[in-house]
Amino acid sequence: MQDLGRSYLRRAFDAGDLSKPLLLEQPFSLRVDGLRLTGRIDRVDRHSDGSYEVIDYKTGSAKRAAELQRDLQLGVYALAAREVFRFDPLSLSYYYLETSERVTVDKPQDRLDEDRQTIVKVAEGIRAELFVARPDRMKCGGCDFRLLCPSAAV
Ligand code: SF4
Repeated sequence: MQDLGRSYLRRAFDAGDLSKPLLLEQPFSLRVDGLRLTGRIDRVDRHSDGSYEVIDYKTGSAKRAAELQRDLQLGVYALAAREVFRFDPLSLSYYYLETSERVTVDKPQDRLDEDRQTIVKVAEGIRAELFVARPDRMKCGGCDFRLLCPSAAV
């Protein structure tokens, strides 16, 4: 991870991208229908047009923007950025360190409403201790519990 970080910084420096972030490793505490969610946003940039961009650094291969529309982590960041920090207009990006790809998505209000409902549903499941297995060949292949898990797909 440190090597990835170093090579990211080197590439940014070589490309002349020395823009200063507005926030780094910013903690947040967000309320969603009586639940409290806490987390940390890797980076927030403020662009010259006054818009904000939340950036999360990722390892692994990049996903397409269409796949990330329903990404709940980005949904939580978007809710925190809008409701806690009042960042508007806002875009959200995953920056993939291995490939230097930046995938940016927009989370319109209807998508955020869906994310809010999903958060409430997930919390209800956790409270009821409902942990339904969702086997997937790719995920199970790298899972430490695959030899014990009765639902493993490998
Ligand atoms: S092996 Fe079981 S616990 Fe691991 S990812 Fe697959 S379904 Fe989930």
